[in-house]
Amino acid sequence: MEGNLRYEKQYSESGKGKLLVARCFIPKGAEIFSEEPLISCQFAWNKLYKYKACDHCMKPLETAEENAKRLTNDPELALPFKEQCSVTKERHTQCQKCQAEYCSQECQTQAYQLYHRMLCDMLSSPSSSLNKLQEIWKNSHYPPETCNILLIARMIARIRQAENPKLMFQEFLSFVHDTSDQEQQYVHKLLGNQFSEIQTMVNSELREALFDEDLSEIFSIEGTQKFLCLIGRNGQGVGTSSFGTWVKNVEDLELPESDKTALDLLIDQIYEKMNEVNGHFLNCEGSGLYSLHSCCNHSCTPNAEVQFPYGNHTLQLVATKDIESGEEIEISYLDDCQLRRSKATRQQILLENYMFLCQCNKCTTDQDDETDESSDDDESDENMEN
Ligand SMILES: [Zn+2]
Ligand SMILES: [Zn+2]
Ligand SMILES: [Zn+2]
Repeated sequence: MEGNLRYEKQYSESGKGKLLVARCFIPKGAEIFSEEPLISCQFAWNKLYKYKACDHCMKPLETAEENAKRLTNDPELALPFKEQCSVTKERHTQCQKCQAEYCSQECQTQAYQLYHRMLCDMLSSPSSSLNKLQEIWKNSHYPPETCNILLIARMIARIRQAENPKLMFQEFLSFVHDTSDQEQQYVHKLLGNQFSEIQTMVNSELREALFDEDLSEIFSIEGTQKFLCLIGRNGQGVGTSSFGTWVKNVEDLELPESDKTALDLLIDQIYEKMNEVNGHFLNCEGSGLYSLHSCCNHSCTPNAEVQFPYGNHTLQLVATKDIESGEEIEISYLDDCQLRRSKATRQQILLENYMFLCQCNKCTTDQDDETDESSDDDESDENMEN
């Protein structure tokens, strides 16, 4: 049945849990799989600050030029090669009731069938529990954002709208395997010192908005803690940009050398201006829960990486090295900069953010930190923290 797949899900009893293994040789640069998230959601402040994106797939709704004008604060800015912009406004739709905007009828229909039916009424009423929930969240979770409470509401709606709600609940639970203590520790980290108070408020608004007697365990305090942990720890960041997609498209054009140079210069100038005006906040940002991706373990020498080649929430896993048949497919939970740090630093970041002690190939073969090229950086880091 799964004859064409390049990977296989396995389960390791040695504490590692789920893992993904290559079923065949996968050359560097090849796609291992693509998947849509079980659920995704744009961040609350990001949306409020007019980073307009499809309410379902997070594809940007501004054209590349509109996007560049807004982010450079320059209404006169004009982009060449407008046909390279992937935003087609004629296809955009809007929910008549709650005004949610979509990139296409397909996205609107899919959202409605998966979770929006149950949330729409509440989203259109400012005094609803769902909107109160979002206020609580926005006031306790300022940018840079890592997750949005609406993701939990969507998750619960998706469970309740599913043909078999209990099965769908199990699917979400399969993302987490922490002890209650670990969860509590994590939620503390996510919400800060008032975590217990915020968690109680979140729980009460979620009950008010979406309670279902058949699924009562979802609505206990422990259930809320589990869901907070789930969105905070397992949510994969998603970033989309119509200007970014336009840049990628024009860079692929066959142009005379002098035109290419002029275009590169224009792009550099625009990015520079954007950075001046908006700092690093250039993308529509959000997060999603991806079930295959969640089976990939971390390694400090990964052989695969996550990409978003379609300018929406569809995730693609790509081999960054040749992968032999039978080899485990591993990604890095650390960014490139963190990956270059010493073993001690890497392990500390992973322990703090993901609560595991890394035992990857690199960590088990790395010598003492003294021999590590980045040990100087680590010292200065420690000084900064003190
Ligand atoms: Zn869409
Ligand atoms: Zn609606
Ligand atoms: Zn490691």
